[in-house]
Amino acid sequence: MKLGIVGLPNVGKSTLFNAITQAGAESANYPFCTIEPNVGVVSVPDERLLKLQQIYNSEKIVPTAIEFCDIAGLVRGASKGEGLGNKFLSHIREVEAIVHVVRCFDDPNVVHVDGSVDPIRDIETINIELILSDIEVLERRIQKTQKAAKADKSLASELEILEKIKETLEGNKPVRSMNFSDDDQAFVKQLNLLTYKPVIYVANVCEDDLVDNGDSNEYVKRVREYASNENSQVVVICAQIESEIAELGDDEKAEFLKDLGLTESGLDKLIKAGYSLLGLISFLTAGPKEVRAWTIKNGTKAPQAGGKIHSDIERGFIRAETIAYEDLISVGTMSAAKEKGLVRLEGKDYIVKDGDVILFRFNV
Ligand code: GDP
Repeated sequence: MKLGIVGLPNVGKSTLFNAITQAGAESANYPFCTIEPNVGVVSVPDERLLKLQQIYNSEKIVPTAIEFCDIAGLVRGASKGEGLGNKFLSHIREVEAIVHVVRCFDDPNVVHVDGSVDPIRDIETINIELILSDIEVLERRIQKTQKAAKADKSLASELEILEKIKETLEGNKPVRSMNFSDDDQAFVKQLNLLTYKPVIYVANVCEDDLVDNGDSNEYVKRVREYASNENSQVVVICAQIESEIAELGDDEKAEFLKDLGLTESGLDKLIKAGYSLLGLISFLTAGPKEVRAWTIKNGTKAPQAGGKIHSDIERGFIRAETIAYEDLISVGTMSAAKEKGLVRLEGKDYIVKDGDVILFRFNV
């Protein structure tokens, strides 16, 4: 899973991205992740792993991870090829969700590209570029479909959706603000439009605004209002503080956050928000060697979940010995859980739930 960080110049993207790479997960554990200079891999915080480690006396913990991709350089005019315009837009096409950083801090020492701090204008500057790019894609698609529809009447409904989307975009609204039926959703998804991607707005505030989560910051209020109109989320962070936190060890980090009156870092909030935004959940595996979290889409069945660990498990799937994390914690040991009948034998149609602790049985 990859999230792309976008935003105007000088809003704090690099500061945030540096915090991400500093906090970086041990890459040896994540061979599937692309390691490029503009990609940072971070662990998804999961308190459950520590408790499981105690129960199983495991040697190590392996959290699951997500990737952030720094898409710097998006400026006004990008869709017309200004700057390296189209190149950046194509990077956005490859990510599953967008993290849009907006400046919500005043600081006379940090120049704003448009001369003043105005988060809504900033958001719209970027969004307009994405909208223009989507319109271009749609126009081509509509032309093609119109031709094909002459011979194939069944394409009329597709054409109708395409036209409706184009209208919305021409009204300066992103596609994600539209509602589609389940069937239409699948069709729209494969168009891979930039403004259909889910967005998290990151309000970058000054240190003092962290304690009430930005509630007393007027800029943040405006961003929240804007985001709620298009069904998007807002995470409040202070990029500068994040880059300081990223340099600390776990204990120091906890102490530092406590001093700020916080319980979790902005980066952790962002990671969690991204995770749930994409409809992702974690199932867990545990044993003396390691406890580990694995990422799946909500709705994944047991064999396919096992396939995340190894393709042999999916191919030779017999059943999944499953216990809910809470059930295991409530009785304390696996043997007690078995005695109480809390461990279920689930078959190939079982839909895995967040926090399921699973032992897969399979034929090799
Ligand atoms: P980018 O162009 O969006 O990548 O922005 P940078 O991360 O390079 O930040 C631009 C400038 O803003 C740098 O001088 C940062 O030190 C400063 N900056 C970033 N985050 C904050 C913040 O939370 N508060 C303040 N006061 N300055 C910040």
